[in-house]
Amino acid sequence: MFDFIMTESQKNLRDEARAFTKWVPRELILDMDAEKVQFPHEYLREAGKRNLLGIRIPREYGGRGLGWVEDGIVAEEVGVASYSLACLWGVGADIVCDAICAFGPDELKQSVVVPLLKGETFAAEGLTEPRGGSDFFGATTYARKDGDDWIINGQKRFIVGAEGADWFLIYAVTDPDAPPHRRMTAFIVPRTEGVETKYLYGLMGVRGGGAGRLILKDVRVPERFALNGVNGGFDVFVRMMIPERLGTAAMTLGSVRPAIEIATRYTSKRKAFGMPIQGFQAVGFKVADAVMLLDAARSMVYSTCLAVDSGRVHPNRVRRMVSQSKKFVTEAAWEIANNAMQVVGGIGYTNVYPLERIVRDIRLAMIWVGTNEIMQLIIQNEWYKEFHKVISKEDVRDVEQDALNASDVEEKVYE
Ligand SMILES: Cc1cc2nc3c(=O)[nH]c(=O)nc-3n(C[C@H](O)[C@H](O)[C@H](O)COP(=O)(O)OP(=O)(O)OC[C@H]3O[C@@H](n4cnc5c(N)ncnc54)[C@H](O)[C@@H]3O)c2cc1C
Repeated sequence: MFDFIMTESQKNLRDEARAFTKWVPRELILDMDAEKVQFPHEYLREAGKRNLLGIRIPREYGGRGLGWVEDGIVAEEVGVASYSLACLWGVGADIVCDAICAFGPDELKQSVVVPLLKGETFAAEGLTEPRGGSDFFGATTYARKDGDDWIINGQKRFIVGAEGADWFLIYAVTDPDAPPHRRMTAFIVPRTEGVETKYLYGLMGVRGGGAGRLILKDVRVPERFALNGVNGGFDVFVRMMIPERLGTAAMTLGSVRPAIEIATRYTSKRKAFGMPIQGFQAVGFKVADAVMLLDAARSMVYSTCLAVDSGRVHPNRVRRMVSQSKKFVTEAAWEIANNAMQVVGGIGYTNVYPLERIVRDIRLAMIWVGTNEIMQLIIQNEWYKEFHKVISKEDVRDVEQDALNASDVEEKVYE
């Protein structure tokens, strides 16, 4: 967030988050990247102790009861230490707890949300399946009814924190014959008999966060653990798209910020041809573009946070703004990280600086929580809908008529 528009209490919250990020042991970051650590329990415990989990979750369940702007402020600062830690910070407390608080029974708020926000337990979210993540409604994980319970079978993959999770938010088909938006149920599944996780992947970045495969074999779950009721998964999915994508955008700002700082320090000190390389436009302009992109990305994230917090912006417009933020910020971050590496030269490509880790980590941002192609699809759909329903009907100047031959309607051929 821009400091010049923060309130005093937002500044204090930012400083709390900064102090937490400063606490993160260097060894933890290095060991996670080297995959010596598969799940950083101590990180979440410390976040819980500092009451920095669940910024938007009501206070009665252990959260801070604040809004999206504050959530973004903390996510940005949390992202600074490492992308992998930020993913874990967000998935349990920001996504799964939000789903339970919005759609779950009090029993789950007490048994899942309260201990999770203390950092004692963790919850992961499983949408993606081996057969595909973009085609969410084509999921093949299914559940069948058995008395008062549902029996779930299927597989999910690339699940952040699967290795350390005590609970899972799982989408399963419960009515295969229904239209897509009435076909799925979002279940809260405990780590119980039939649940198996495998830490599998040789990830390029975001390592050490327990990302793995989740196998569900005849897993029995009571019907009351179905958020928003049986076949009500679509509404949960739609609501979760905000914390998944806006949260990703905010933490990505923080994760790429150090790349600019490292590049700025380095190019101010490093000399070539008898002068600091900052003085060569080819170098200084890359840093300038990186700073500009970061500020533009930040503007987009926080105007979207304000739109969501206001509750006055139409949900379709919110969907577009959230998708725009996710796409723009993650692509800006990729350019920023690459520009930073470029101006630091060969040493930037080594592990003497953390730039190479930042580049590896940041690459995920354009893929997960919905690829940027899926973001484009949403932006396109929502824009055309909004344009025809709202924008084209607004009482504003019709600039189309301000052309010399605007009245030549026979020249305006559309078919
Ligand atoms: C490290 C990591 C962590 C992750 N964490 C989680 C997690 O915690 N929980 C979870 O559920 N998932 C998680 N994911 C999964 C991630 O969200 C998916 O990988 C992503 O949504 C894409 O799905 P896919 O890999 O199956 O690719 P596919 O869906 O097969 O897509 C492949 C390509 O086709 C394109 N494509 C597909 N359909 C269309 C279309 N209609 N229009 C245009 N282009 C299209 C995609 O954009 C992409 O470029 C994680 C992934 C990684 C790598």
